[in-house]
Amino acid sequence: MKTKYVFVLGGVTSSLGKGIISASLAKLLQARGLRVTIQKFDPYINVDPGTLNPLEHGECYVTEDGGETDLDLGHYERFLNVSTSRANNVTTGKIYQTVIQKEREGAFLGKTVQVVPHITDEIKRRMMLLAKTGNYDVVISEIGGTVGDIESQPFVEAIRQLQWELDDEDCAILHLTLLPFLNAAKELKTKPTQHSVRMLQQNGLQPDIIVCRTEHHVTPDIRKKIALFCNVKPNAVIESIDAKSIYEVPIMMMEEKLDEIVINKLQLKAAKKPELTEWKKFLDKLQNPKTNVNIALVGKYVELQDAYKSILEAFIHAGATNECKVCVHYVHSEHITSDNVAEKLSNMHAVLVAPGFGERGTEGKIIAANYARVHKVPFLGICMGMQMAVIEYARNVLEYKEATTTEINPSSKYPVIDLMEDQKRLTIKGGTMRLGVYECLLKKDSLVYKIYGKEQLHERHRHRYELNNVYVEELERKGLYAVGTNTETGLVEIVEMKDHPFFIGVQFHPELKSTVENPHPLFVAFMKAALEYKQ
Ligand code: GLN
Repeated sequence: MKTKYVFVLGGVTSSLGKGIISASLAKLLQARGLRVTIQKFDPYINVDPGTLNPLEHGECYVTEDGGETDLDLGHYERFLNVSTSRANNVTTGKIYQTVIQKEREGAFLGKTVQVVPHITDEIKRRMMLLAKTGNYDVVISEIGGTVGDIESQPFVEAIRQLQWELDDEDCAILHLTLLPFLNAAKELKTKPTQHSVRMLQQNGLQPDIIVCRTEHHVTPDIRKKIALFCNVKPNAVIESIDAKSIYEVPIMMMEEKLDEIVINKLQLKAAKKPELTEWKKFLDKLQNPKTNVNIALVGKYVELQDAYKSILEAFIHAGATNECKVCVHYVHSEHITSDNVAEKLSNMHAVLVAPGFGERGTEGKIIAANYARVHKVPFLGICMGMQMAVIEYARNVLEYKEATTTEINPSSKYPVIDLMEDQKRLTIKGGTMRLGVYECLLKKDSLVYKIYGKEQLHERHRHRYELNNVYVEELERKGLYAVGTNTETGLVEIVEMKDHPFFIGVQFHPELKSTVENPHPLFVAFMKAALEYKQ
């Protein structure tokens, strides 16, 4: 079977949820027995989001193969339960980097290198790259930003060319737009959508499907109006009303028959009826919790929820598994002091100290780890969070009062966290951390072994610093054990305390591998420990 293409573009405003709509459509097609993947095209000039502050576009999602990518790839994986890769995220920076590299090699044989055709050719090559593997029946390409942005133009032009090159039944265009509700008029307005579609048409694209984000139901009259003005069939105007949970969206899209319309347009004859039993079971548990827990999320990027997206979603998966609602309390690590920590954390049933970079907010994370250790509150430290827990232990149990990480003080006398050997010579920041999947071997007498139920793990990483092995023996003698290591490099991947119901620090990012169908065992156990603590 030929690979089919769906392009998802957005209009009117950003943040309409193109990622969720793309993932929901992909889920429905997958539930019909099709092999689907999604890729994201980001029009910004950074080569990847690895160098971006999380407060800009949210967290940086790391793929198995070590790609630093847009957080939408996290949604794709969580919905589809299939891994993505570097190839699933392309930025303008990447496109230009490739084209300029080729130009330097003399590959263009004296020609003037231009946006059309050279940049658009490279965009098209990337759009079709995953299809070439033969692994997919449908490739969904989401274009970041909104139609009309200066920087989106080459992507829109590339889609126009592809649509012209492909057979009609091999390509569908979905436009996601906003229907604002004017309170004074008590009316949903269609004009911004009309303008946005007109802009697409001016660029040579005619959408096949229009998905309308709305806070109120779209009446048949409004559907007809949008259909008429935007030149689509009325059944191809889809309502996407605000949902309580993103995990409801695939079911809502199925009720709106989004998958049917796509299947008809692409003539996907192999598609079966959608099989969503497991998904619905998950939703049922999510919507009917028997109890609730308070979890503190301690970090310095708490102003933007997207900065900890994968952690929040892993909480939701683990909460549903335990049939409990997870109430997340954001605690800004910069605002924690020894004097106010009890006030901030005493109502919490568990504490998670988040990943991070740089000195700001680290003292607060150390105080939070101390509180959880001393008061025996379930604790999970992720990456920087684990490093802070080790520093806390070194300062207060080993009594090295000046213990720290060389990320904060490069000439520290007690560098319990230190730069990895192969990081020391690096001068370039982009793409040079320890990235992607590494193996970890667990000690069999550990809590984490019980949790995972196996000895060997593969988890994803994104860091430059490590637990300094010089201190491991002493830490263990005093009760903090290195229970997971990478056997090849000797790097400590997990620490845990024995004399505590649940005190675990992981150098990797378990949150990146939690999906609806496979909630992460560490998060599930963490939530269970929170429930037990509550009782
Ligand atoms: N800044 C720390 C390091 O580079 C932790 C990174 C993280 O939390 N992702 O090792």
